[in-house]
Amino acid sequence: MKVLVLGGGVSVAYYLARAGHEVQLVDRQCGPALETSFGNAGEVSPGYSAPWAGPGVPIKAIKWMLMQHSPLVIWPILDPAMWRWGAMMLANCTHKAYALNKSRMVPIAEYSRDCLKALRAETAIAYDDREQGTLQLFRTQQQLDSIGDDVAVLKQYGVPFEVLDRDGFCKVEPALRLTQEKFVGALRLPGDETGDCFKFTCRLAEMATALGVKFRWNTRIEALQVGGGAITGVHTDAGLLRADRVVLALGSHSPQLLAPVGVRIPVYPVKGYSITVPITDAQYAPESTIMDETHKVAVTRLGDRIRVGIQKRNVRVLDPPEDIDHRTWCFSHQFGKFRIIQSAQNAITFPIRQPVRDTAAQVTFLKNEIPFSMRTRERRDAPTESAAISPGHFNQ
Ligand SMILES: Cc1cc2nc3c(=O)[nH]c(=O)nc-3n(C[C@H](O)[C@H](O)[C@H](O)COP(=O)(O)OP(=O)(O)OC[C@H]3O[C@@H](n4cnc5c(N)ncnc54)[C@H](O)[C@@H]3O)c2cc1C
Repeated sequence: MKVLVLGGGVSVAYYLARAGHEVQLVDRQCGPALETSFGNAGEVSPGYSAPWAGPGVPIKAIKWMLMQHSPLVIWPILDPAMWRWGAMMLANCTHKAYALNKSRMVPIAEYSRDCLKALRAETAIAYDDREQGTLQLFRTQQQLDSIGDDVAVLKQYGVPFEVLDRDGFCKVEPALRLTQEKFVGALRLPGDETGDCFKFTCRLAEMATALGVKFRWNTRIEALQVGGGAITGVHTDAGLLRADRVVLALGSHSPQLLAPVGVRIPVYPVKGYSITVPITDAQYAPESTIMDETHKVAVTRLGDRIRVGIQKRNVRVLDPPEDIDHRTWCFSHQFGKFRIIQSAQNAITFPIRQPVRDTAAQVTFLKNEIPFSMRTRERRDAPTESAAISPGHFNQ
């Protein structure tokens, strides 16, 4: 069968080619994993997968927005899609919806982690990967006491976990000894992994090429072609490409392409940031991922580097007109927020020896949009049989 993979579906392309299909992947970038997958926080954390919409989140969101170093920024823009999405998110902030959404996410995430293990065994792919679990750190007893819902779901799905006191978390992350008094306890998910998504995707793209996948880089997808109730191809700036099946993996750009064919997915872009710096003193570096629950900062060991991912939930819709402005905005924003990172720095004596501004050259900039999703709606005549949709991160 002729299959077109649109956007970031390198793994899909690899599996389809291995199953004997004729596969082409089309992407506007000049290579794999250059957008959201470029510099993410590096966690492969099925146990930690949880909907952003949770009980108490509306109140927390207001508090976050009032914090000096807020992990949430909402630009008050008149975009109906944003407000529609916001309303759906609020409707999912109940105990019942949270438990249901989480109970759907965890098994999918566990399954996908198991697929990753199998793929790693099959391909011997290396991507600064580690299988040492992840650690979620709590600064207050209240945070620690509120993990009940999460723990219940972990138990329900047999996901291993440990609730650790200071001694316990210092055993798994010895660098935390230096600042252990800042934290009251931690939730450890020993089955979680870490790794460099960009490295992984690039290596897998090479392997997919060897299996016969044709990559069409620098090609912008403009519209889906529909005929006889099915998607029969895609219009691109390089002309029409035909296929028997289409896999849509355009991240947060997926809704724009799907809407004209009658499929509405409530995926909305938000922004996150990361920096990547070399380790200068390994004894102070984390072994795996630590997450500071208060500041929503994740610090991950990637070989001889550390990546700090800030889950700043910056909900917005329009990119500033020029990319360079966008970058400048992000950097200054990042520097403005550097105390967030410095709190991680304090937490583990984060090994940046240079003054903060000197690290600018080492900043891995991330133009990023994490889509999140709730209920999909299709028009009756929508050609859903011929397309699979994989728009990335799912946070219901
Ligand atoms: C700061 C940050 C930290 C994160 N940390 C983690 C983490 O620790 N663990 C985790 O699991 N996830 C994390 N994520 C989320 C994760 O990175 C994303 O879910 C994942 O990278 C999405 O991959 P994707 O292939 O679906 O999308 P992308 O990597 O964004 O790929 C989409 C592709 O579609 C292409 N495209 C879009 N529109 C068009 C068009 N019209 N024509 C042609 N091509 C097009 C783009 O060029 C792009 O290559 C993080 C995200 C951020 C922002």
